[in-house]
Amino acid sequence: MSDEQAGGTRGGAGALARSGAGDGAGSGAGGGAPVVLVVNAGSSSVKYELLDPRTGASQAKGLVERIGLSDGVARHTVGGTTHEQVLDVPDHAAALELATRAFQEHGPTLADVDLLAVGHRVVHGGAEFADPTLITPEVLATIDRLVPLAPLHNPGNLAGIAATQEAFPDVPQVAVFDTAFHQGMPEAAATYAVPLSWREEHRVRRYGFHGTSHAYVSRRVAELLGRPLEDVRSIVLHLGNGASAAAIDGGRSVDTSMGMTPLEGLVMGTRPGDLDPGVAGHLGRVAGLSTEEVERALSKESGLLGLTGSADFRGVMARRADGDPAAVLAFEVVVHRLLRYVGAFAAVLGGLDALVFTAGVGENNAELRAAVLERLAGFGVLLDAPANAAADGETLITTAQSRVAGYVIPTAEEWEIARQAAALVARP
Ligand code: ADP
Repeated sequence: MSDEQAGGTRGGAGALARSGAGDGAGSGAGGGAPVVLVVNAGSSSVKYELLDPRTGASQAKGLVERIGLSDGVARHTVGGTTHEQVLDVPDHAAALELATRAFQEHGPTLADVDLLAVGHRVVHGGAEFADPTLITPEVLATIDRLVPLAPLHNPGNLAGIAATQEAFPDVPQVAVFDTAFHQGMPEAAATYAVPLSWREEHRVRRYGFHGTSHAYVSRRVAELLGRPLEDVRSIVLHLGNGASAAAIDGGRSVDTSMGMTPLEGLVMGTRPGDLDPGVAGHLGRVAGLSTEEVERALSKESGLLGLTGSADFRGVMARRADGDPAAVLAFEVVVHRLLRYVGAFAAVLGGLDALVFTAGVGENNAELRAAVLERLAGFGVLLDAPANAAADGETLITTAQSRVAGYVIPTAEEWEIARQAAALVARP
């Protein structure tokens, strides 16, 4: 989710819905509400946000990017003002130092807040982590053992944790895994029909991702429906640069479109989603492509980029409006794939109460939502076209007669990480 959208998340209807949440004084140095620092460290960037885990209210957030390059960028936003500098950021430790200095210079001063925990987004927790976990040397060793499953992500997460531990040695550090929410998936959904040695020795199974977002959105839709979470069957479509669908039954993920890696499933910015695995072997034989070349093309050159030359959904929509045939086709491919998953997951769930759109594309693109919902009319899904077109923040986009409630719900991954981290370190 972009910074802009993160801001929007709390400025929309959701913020109103949450404004009654507790705001009592904490026991910290400054006497304010306890806060959590959420850190999302990638291979070349560190995003951070300081927020109240009970209300989701953000006190400050920032981003240090282009780590390892001489023209790194550090941005810190507090009270609506963004402070930016361009400078050499050699490594993650330097990025964390810039972040702590930004807090010192621009506020809030970390020594004066009641910092409950640092919550780290960790991409791959394998089958080992099904819950948020207090970080210990053993936990770090396990995350390190999982690097072969997420070679592009877990090393950055580990570097971010190491740097944060050094910067805040006395604050509990909690890992919140993208895969965790899906670890309770039934074996039937998690198992690939491949040889036993692949499954046992090489951990080839479906793990799923975007779990923090799916967990938050599925809980929130039950609240909006005014029904107990246990009674709600929902499909969440998290559509950002990366995209995944999840089938959630009573708050538990029972299937999801991403698999062992974040390549499977829906069409994404630069990833194809579902693909006949025979394609890789074919390209090796007829085009002489190496495994690495095929992998790179599937991670970085496919999806919308492969179909249109642009990975950005907004750009594709603008070209589609101008009648560009590649963009017209790309939109249809995206919609077709979404329908395949919605149909399949509705069957897996044995019925459906809510269909929810979230993340950059899901929250902002009314045309895509309309295209999906209109094609489900035969199943009693009735689009409320004006509500969909005007959706801003949390919005019901189907009519009162619709058999399935369609919603836009802005995701709040940072808030969910903060909430989970705070719950784990809850003070007696
Ligand atoms: P991620 O967190 O996976 O990087 P986001 O959730 O920020 O991604 O989503 C990015 C995508 O959302 C991009 O394809 C972007 O074009 C799209 N997007 C953002 N705003 C809009 C909009 N107003 N209309 C259509 N697409 C949008």
